[in-house]
Order: sequence, then structure tokens, then C-alpha cells
Amino acid sequence: MKNTYIRIMSGICVMPLLTACGNTAETVRTADIFAMDTYMNIKAYGSGAESAVTDAEARIYELERTLSVTDEASDIRKINQAGGQPVTVSADTVSVLQTAQDMHYESSGALCISLYPVLRAWGFTTGEYRIPAADEIAELLENADDTQISADGQTVRCPAGMEIDLGAVAKGYTGDAVMEIMQVHRISSAIINLGGNVQTLGSRPDGSAWKVGITDPFAPDSLIGTVSVTDKAVITSGNYERYFTGADGCRYWHILDPADGYPADNGLVSVTVIGACGAECDALSTALFVEGTEQAVEHWRRSGDFEMILVTSDGGLLLTEGIAADYTAKTELPYRVVQRNEEP
Ligand code: AMP
Ligand code: MG
Repeated sequence: MKNTYIRIMSGICVMPLLTACGNTAETVRTADIFAMDTYMNIKAYGSGAESAVTDAEARIYELERTLSVTDEASDIRKINQAGGQPVTVSADTVSVLQTAQDMHYESSGALCISLYPVLRAWGFTTGEYRIPAADEIAELLENADDTQISADGQTVRCPAGMEIDLGAVAKGYTGDAVMEIMQVHRISSAIINLGGNVQTLGSRPDGSAWKVGITDPFAPDSLIGTVSVTDKAVITSGNYERYFTGADGCRYWHILDPADGYPADNGLVSVTVIGACGAECDALSTALFVEGTEQAVEHWRRSGDFEMILVTSDGGLLLTEGIAADYTAKTELPYRVVQRNEEP
């Protein structure tokens, strides 16, 4: 979630659909929108679908205004411009901050929302890419320390000189908010795709599981495989999503390692997290990408409430045991299933 958001597309269509048994007309409503600097699609089935999708769209735009790092009136802008003074923010902002804070600790600092000035120096916030000098990065990193951000109820305080960005978590949180709206409207079958973050409610209208494609990071127009899920978020962080090639011929991508302020290069090119909570899966996918292969596997072993698919920079593919039976390969790429109790 970086640049000024431009809503270039807003399409809605309603169409009748026959369910698998062929005798009940089922309504499906879809909306394509552009928000949070990315394309999004919402699809809901059932009699309440029309109002559910309308309300979901409004909620997405509300969260965009609240959580954007560039919108002048957003909570995040207020925090970043407060010069160390306390700021009153929405319950949504507090909730996303809490998820980020928890993940900062769980990932030993790999998720670090106060890296924003370093991301800006690389041009990832504007698209005006450059390779900053090492001493520039080192100086900016001195102000990156999530442990200095505090919240007391809805009052947030961030030290002067520090700036935060919730881009690693906001889309997952937004997906959870959309799913809550679906449930309020008694929708039992819905799927949303928020810029590659897929979240599902229930199963498909015919009762079968949703099939979610996993992008091949080495050929982003193709899939390495699909996973079959119900009631799950499937959220990916990858080095192919936003990057530039420097004058030195190297690729520099948008997920930075707080340890040195350079693009995280710890053996992974993509991490897909499958779990119940979108915000947590989103925070995790970014954190695990930074942690790298071995630490990501350790993190999964001690956590126990998510599954993951890792693609390594040398072309390897690892699936955790809880998702292996639901994975269908779409390439010849061999994969290894990581067991929870496996000897290292
Ligand atoms: P995601 O696509 O969910 O992995 O989020 C990537 C976005 O999170 C980037 O575009 C940045 O805005 C931000 N980001 C990059 N590196 C980090 C990091 N180590 N911790 C937290 N946010 C980050
Ligand atoms: Mg993320």
C-alpha cells in the first residue's frame, strides 16, 4: 500500500447461476475495484450477495483512507507527522498495529513496520527506484524500531523521526473485514482476491473446496500449483511482486530485511501462508520471507496454526505437512513435504 490510490475500475455484475444439482438458481455478485494500490475482486453467492458486495466495497475504501501511508487524512499519516506527540486513531488502526507488533516479536524483528523511511529511500513508495548509498541506509535504519511504538487504547505514540507503513498487513486485515461483512449478510460462500491475497468463506456453492492458484515466482504468469481450501486465507509474499533492476543488473525487491535495510535475500523467492486469519497470514508471509527458509520452518514448527508453501531461490519447493494433501502441482517442480516432528 504505497502510492496515491487511483480508482480506475469499478465494475459490478449480478448474474444467476445454476448450482451443481442444477435445479436452484443461485445469485452471484462480483465487483472489480482498484484500491490500496492494487486490483481487487470480490465474489459472493446467495440471496444477500448484492448488498454484501456493496457494503464490502465501501468498507475497503474506508480502510484504504484509514490505513494509507500517503492519504493526507489517514491515521498513518497522522501518526507519522505527529513529531512524537500522541495521536487518537480508529479501532481498525489499533488492531492492525497490534497484529504487526505481535508479529514483530514472533519473528524476532523480521516484520518491522518502521522501515518506511528506508523503503522510501529505495523508491518503493513512489516507483522512482534507486539504490541508496550504504551510509544513507544505515542512518535511516537508526530510526527503525517497532518496540518504540506504543498504544494506550486508541491513543498511539510513535517517536519523532520514526515513520510507519502497514503495507505488509493491511490487505489481510481488509480481507478479514470483508469476510465479517459477508457473514453479517448471511453469505456462506464467497471468495475475494485483494491483489493476490485470496480469502475464502465456506466452500463453493456446489459444496466443493475453492481452488487457489500459487504463482510461479520464476514465471509469474504461470502457476506452480493450486491449493484446495475452505474458510481460509491464502496469502503470498514474493520477490516478483514489486521490484526493479538496478544499473548493476541486480534485481531489488520491495520486502526489506530490517537487519541491513536491503531487499531480504535469505533463500526464499516466495512464501504462501494458509490460515484462518487474513491479517495474521499477511503479517506472517512478509515476516517468513525475511526470516528465510530455515527460520521460517522453525517458526512454523513452534506456531502450529498455519501452513505454508515456500519457493526457494535455488528453485526448490517446500510444503508443510498440513497442506500437502490439498496441493495439486501444475509444474514438474519436485517438492518436499516438511514434517512437524522431522529431525533437522
Ligand atoms: P507483503 O506483500 O504483504 O509481503 O508486504 C510488502 C510490503 O510491506 C512492502 O511493499 C512494504 O510496504 C512493506 N515492507 C517491506 N519490508 C517489510 C518488513 N520487513 N516489515 C514490514 N513491512 C515491510
Ligand atoms: Mg504481508
